[in-house]
Amino acid sequence: MGLLHSINDFNEAKQVIPGGVNSPVRAFKSVGGTPPFIIKGQNCYLFDVDDNRYIDFVQSWGPLIFGHCDPDIQTSVSIAIQNGLSFGAPTEMETTLAKEIISVYEGIEKIRLVNSGTEATMSAIRLARAYSGKDDIIKFDGCYHGHSDALLVSAGSGCATFGTPSSPGVPKDFSKHTFVAKYNDIESVKSCFQDGNIGCVIIEPIAGNMGLVPARIDFLKDLRHLCDEFGAVLIFDEVMSGFRASLKGVQGYCDIVPDMATFGKVIGGGMPLAAFGGKDEIMNLLSPLGGVYQAGTLSGNPIAVSAGLTSICKIKQNPQIYSYLEKLAQRLMEGFKNAAHTYGINLQTCVRGSMFGFFFNKTKVENFEDAQKSDTKMFAQFHAKMLEKGVYLACSQFETGFICTAMNEAVIDTAIKSAEKSFDEISKGI
Ligand SMILES: *Cc1c(COP(=O)(O)O)cnc(C)c1O
Repeated sequence: MGLLHSINDFNEAKQVIPGGVNSPVRAFKSVGGTPPFIIKGQNCYLFDVDDNRYIDFVQSWGPLIFGHCDPDIQTSVSIAIQNGLSFGAPTEMETTLAKEIISVYEGIEKIRLVNSGTEATMSAIRLARAYSGKDDIIKFDGCYHGHSDALLVSAGSGCATFGTPSSPGVPKDFSKHTFVAKYNDIESVKSCFQDGNIGCVIIEPIAGNMGLVPARIDFLKDLRHLCDEFGAVLIFDEVMSGFRASLKGVQGYCDIVPDMATFGKVIGGGMPLAAFGGKDEIMNLLSPLGGVYQAGTLSGNPIAVSAGLTSICKIKQNPQIYSYLEKLAQRLMEGFKNAAHTYGINLQTCVRGSMFGFFFNKTKVENFEDAQKSDTKMFAQFHAKMLEKGVYLACSQFETGFICTAMNEAVIDTAIKSAEKSFDEISKGI
């Protein structure tokens, strides 16, 4: 397996694109080496410009729950394209997609479509501030909600990997309204409520951007109570976990109802599409009904909506996929864990539906501080060894892996065999 063409491509890209990539984690900075330049995807596989084939456990960082080139999604997109790429005017399909999301997610009565998760969370927070009439917000260390100024106050996975606690270029005045609490630690939330005039709490209820770290159910319950007590809007950021951890995201694991939720990734079926939604009385403050401004030239784009709608309809027609995906994820994590333990390597694993995560860590990970105690050097070695063997894992210890329906037990077992070989080589210092 060589990467000659990718190395050339990467060098060329670096001349004209900062770091050679259009989103930082793609540059492989935390694991070293060259990112393969991709030429195509098929089912659960990626193919690079050097003719290497990889089992893809990234799936475009989550969107592709049916894998690459799903025939139903491809067909619906091909048909939609015949009628034009964009109108900047309402279409019936947007209503249908909104209804589909509303029908599965409790607490969401209206939805607005946007183009990225960043936009969804940024807009949700603006609305939450307007509704509560309070400027201060709480976010959690290790949670990532996109790259808007107010949310880059504590590191997301990209930043954590690069070792910068917050981004230069974000004015202190913008970040002073953002309080950062500790994940799964209700006392830290209480002190934020005491110190600030909190109008909104945003959380990944199943965190996937510090590795996979689900919130404890009792913690989410306490959070709900605190928000009620202090009159703060609770936002569940389910951009990653929505339609991924289960059909209902975190609501497949508990009956806690947020005031607002954000979606992305799977709801676009691989196209740029995201959404934020909430209770009527909150969403009705949005322009043109209310004064809270939010807009988008390409929002609700017909091609993106057709891909997303086909994806969601296909999921709803086959809700059993989640138990299938979870079984495969469990099998993979059991396999990795057993392989690591054979060589005396500490590995913590976690599965939520089609999402999986593993930390080279001695103890269970409950928050970002725990996650950061992981052996990132071991991760980098493991990642490189797996890539060499045709297994494409997320290129950071602080990301989540994804299973798609195009995978089966044989594919998972191939990945486990590669893990065994990788740990064997690592332990022998090869
Ligand atoms: C990916 C992600 C975002 C940002 O979405 P983009 O489409 O990349 O802007 C926000 N929140 C969560 C939880 C995410 O996983």
